[in-house]
Amino acid sequence: MRIDLHTHSTASDGTDTPAELVRNASAAGLDVVALTDHDTVAGHGEAIAALPAGLTLVPGAELSCRLDGVSLHMLAYLFDPDEPELARERELVRDDRVPRAKGMVARLRELGVPITWERVAGIAGDGSVGRPHIASAMVELGVVETVSDAFTAEWIADGGRAYVGKHELDPFEAVRLIKGAGGVSVFAHPLAVKRGRCVPESAVAELAAAGLDGIEVDHMDHDTAARERLRGMARDLGLLATGSSDYHGSRKTCRLGEYTTDPDVYAEIAARGSGAAPVSA
Ligand code: AMP
Ligand code: ZN
Ligand code: FE
Ligand code: FE
Repeated sequence: MRIDLHTHSTASDGTDTPAELVRNASAAGLDVVALTDHDTVAGHGEAIAALPAGLTLVPGAELSCRLDGVSLHMLAYLFDPDEPELARERELVRDDRVPRAKGMVARLRELGVPITWERVAGIAGDGSVGRPHIASAMVELGVVETVSDAFTAEWIADGGRAYVGKHELDPFEAVRLIKGAGGVSVFAHPLAVKRGRCVPESAVAELAAAGLDGIEVDHMDHDTAARERLRGMARDLGLLATGSSDYHGSRKTCRLGEYTTDPDVYAEIAARGSGAAPVSA
């Protein structure tokens, strides 16, 4: 069984439509794929309608959170998408992404980059708008060579010259809301230091005590030492340890199924999730 529990579609900042994503997941030899767009479940219906035979879809989302000024991501699986409290929080974050992206466009223009909100909105389409869409517009303009090159202090990395923050959830509140909606919570890439500051390990322990289910261990932004450290923390704190690609289509270099989750860990996630069920064609 090959299980990839973290992917993005055009419903947020991936480049595959949800239908393309499930077809590509099947072609990549995956048995299980989770669709975890940023702060939205908008891609689930299309992904389910296009599910190839033999592939199971785990409905999910990646929630934008912040603790003591440090941004972090919380993966949520198998929650009830209609549970009003969690749905409202997703909406608040999503809605705030628009004025925030416009703010970053304005700062970039002040820095002499001829980027327009119309172009960024065009690239984002119906998707929840984020920095990777702005980065793609910067690549088009020749300001940077790759999407990743835009994530520097010079441009739109956390705290960068053109960075603007957005509304983000308290991660303790996120864990509570996910559980309240019957879902399973997994702290995404907790030690992805190349993306910016990370929360201290004590925060992971506190989240575990507050009901966090797991942490993402095998991820492209974790080096070997970070993975070993996280595996130890998962063991000590009784957390599930997952692995996943964080696939974004052509907007990032990682391939579907580049990292995977152990079948026993997936079985435990499926057993704990009660707000929605994995879907098979
Ligand atoms: P946003 O949610 O709009 O703040 O954008 C965050 C997203 O930008 C993340 O989910 C990643 O997809 C992407 N991202 C963050 N840091 C980097 C980086 N250093 N290189 C490439 N992409 C990044
Ligand atoms: Zn993303
Ligand atoms: Fe993330
Ligand atoms: Fe992600």
